[in-house]
Amino acid sequence: MTLDQLQSKFEVFKAKKLALDMSRGKPSTVQLDLSNGLLDTVSSTDYKTIADADTRNYGGLDGIPEAKELFKDFLEVSTVDEVVIGGNASLTIMHDIVSRGMTHGMCDSKQPWGKAPIKFLCPSPGYDRHFSICQHFGIEMIPVGCTPDGPNMDEVEQLVANDESIKGIWIVPKYSNPTGLSCSDEVVDRLSIMKTAANDFRVFWDNAYAVHHLSDDKDELKNILAACKIAGNDNRPFILCSTSKITFAGAGVSAVGGSVENMDWYRGHLFFSTIGPDKLNQVRHTRFFKNIEGLNEHMKKHAAILKPRFDKTLAILEQELGGTDLATWTKPKGGYFISFNVPNGCAKRVVALAVEAGVKLTGAGATYPHKNDPNDSNIRLAPSCPTINEIEQAMKIVCLAVKIAAIETGVVKDMVQN
Ligand code: PLP
Repeated sequence: MTLDQLQSKFEVFKAKKLALDMSRGKPSTVQLDLSNGLLDTVSSTDYKTIADADTRNYGGLDGIPEAKELFKDFLEVSTVDEVVIGGNASLTIMHDIVSRGMTHGMCDSKQPWGKAPIKFLCPSPGYDRHFSICQHFGIEMIPVGCTPDGPNMDEVEQLVANDESIKGIWIVPKYSNPTGLSCSDEVVDRLSIMKTAANDFRVFWDNAYAVHHLSDDKDELKNILAACKIAGNDNRPFILCSTSKITFAGAGVSAVGGSVENMDWYRGHLFFSTIGPDKLNQVRHTRFFKNIEGLNEHMKKHAAILKPRFDKTLAILEQELGGTDLATWTKPKGGYFISFNVPNGCAKRVVALAVEAGVKLTGAGATYPHKNDPNDSNIRLAPSCPTINEIEQAMKIVCLAVKIAAIETGVVKDMVQN
């Protein structure tokens, strides 16, 4: 097909005046409905913890015992002392840890991080909100590459070994945002063992998609805290999670796990910012799931909704772009995203064309520090919210946009296929 022919096809889509959205990793309404029972687990006469504590009142700084028990299993840490339950968002915990690092330093810092310029490693493409935290605190971001096994460890090891100002790395270890891929055992080992010039270096292990498998074919990760303990680097990882994409996004429960020393440091700071968390929501969640097995069963219902959406997205990509050499994409076993790479210099144009035809995508570059994808090639696809029919239409438009952008930028002359 020539550019003119592709553009005529594109005009037909435009005339439909569609309003489709594949930009946000939000649960769909049907997924939210799965957790409506949560709202009925407490009532005006039944709101106490197992140990009979009144959840309507202050107290319980680091969580109610049954929530700590549930999240101990979720985070795969050894004891409840290695867990602190947070509020409605794991992002708040991450923000607060960095903030307190800047003002007070970590439990093993020689001085507050903010006393001198510091840097974080940012495996890219990655989660934009991690990068925003760095930007907010004036932390220099050093992009490092991603491999199908996690961050490029040759780059990571070389950087952290030689620069004491590098204090952290962001990692979404399982079904990453946006690649959908997971860290291999080797990456976990190398992160745990590696020599860091900074003695207060931290791995922000944001396991937001820990239980978000699309089928029984799951990625299983090596335990980062256990590996760090064996290597004598007990304080290296902060492990984060929440039920945002398990129950209600924005009305879930978050948690952080790590060494007792790290958790005591966190609890110490928490004391100054709250008299106690929303324990009612913790009771709702622990009653709703009962235990980690209950939570995992619940995730199967999410998978039944999400898998066909991922399958449809991948099927259209294959149908429209398979064999063209114009794009590559990941095939995740879980999570919320597919990472889509178009020819260099085309991502912004593809996103702009998609918008013209009524399809909203995550902004090109959003998955890189300072929103700067040096190759202008990566696009994050989020199939969770639209219906299957909407995905079919949206993805046909996206694929058409890739072909048009590729001809416009001279990557190819015309399309032999399709
Ligand atoms: N971490 C990652 C990797 C995410 O993709 C998201 C949401 O998209 C979050 C954290 C936000 O989690 P929360 O709602 O618990 O702040």
